[in-house]
Amino acid sequence: MQNSPISKIILEGREFLIKRDDLIDPYLAGNKYRKLYTLLTTPKEKFRTLISYGGTQSNAMLAIAAMCKKKGWEFLYYTKPLSTFLKEQKSGNLADALRLGMQHIEIEEEMYREFISSLRLNLDEKTFIVDQGGADMSAKTGLEVLAQEIREQNPEANAVATPSGTGTTALFLALALPEYRVYTTPSVGGVEYLQEQMQALHALPKNLFILESKKKYHFAKPYREFYEMYKKLQEAGVEFDLLYAPSLWMALLEQVEEKVLYIHSGGVSGNRSMLERYSKKFGDLA
Ligand SMILES: *Cc1c(COP(=O)(O)O)cnc(C)c1O
Repeated sequence: MQNSPISKIILEGREFLIKRDDLIDPYLAGNKYRKLYTLLTTPKEKFRTLISYGGTQSNAMLAIAAMCKKKGWEFLYYTKPLSTFLKEQKSGNLADALRLGMQHIEIEEEMYREFISSLRLNLDEKTFIVDQGGADMSAKTGLEVLAQEIREQNPEANAVATPSGTGTTALFLALALPEYRVYTTPSVGGVEYLQEQMQALHALPKNLFILESKKKYHFAKPYREFYEMYKKLQEAGVEFDLLYAPSLWMALLEQVEEKVLYIHSGGVSGNRSMLERYSKKFGDLA
């Protein structure tokens, strides 16, 4: 794999650098590529089956499905029951992951937690479990590779930014790049919840800054200002995802003055189904 390129965009009169991890692969890109790096470089004979669980439109799910197809691994993915709307959808991450050969298993709401915690009990050595969103120590190596690429490309910036879900990416990137400031924003819950999630993996380094948005947002809900930010970025020349990127960009524009290298975290494949939800909620969004 060649290093992903760095592009420049002008936004509100400011120049930003973008590390184009979104261009790595149509499905296996962004921070999911980085987080799955250890598995991606594992010889295929090592496993027969990968298991994961979580959201029904998750970017991690799609990335794992693409990886398993490349590797010839069977992929079992557990979720809570689907809505009829999702079941009938022909586009979006779930539809794409199913086309890549993922086996999707729905678990009743009341059984879900217990079922997920029991998954590890009867594992054979040819089966591997990827925690929800890929939030585990195995993500560390891929982010060290990213840090090394950034050093080699030597961008004109002393700060990087990347949005957080579980916070795994921002945390390991900050640990691997102590000479840079790393900015992030929470997308699921607030700052404290994100800190807790990160601390479960490692103590928080001093160069990691969690920016708080002015307003509270619920994960994966459509917000007009997210759409406006998305549109502005698209007009500046790069498409970003609609779930994580908008609130970080808003915070960078409002709260950070220095030049930033934004690490594109991918997720653009989920936009089509998200845009359908936006036009349902806000009408025509041309
Ligand atoms: C998964 C994802 C994130 C969050 O990554 P974490 O390592 O869980 O913080 C951010 N952006 C996009 C586009 C993602 O798909």
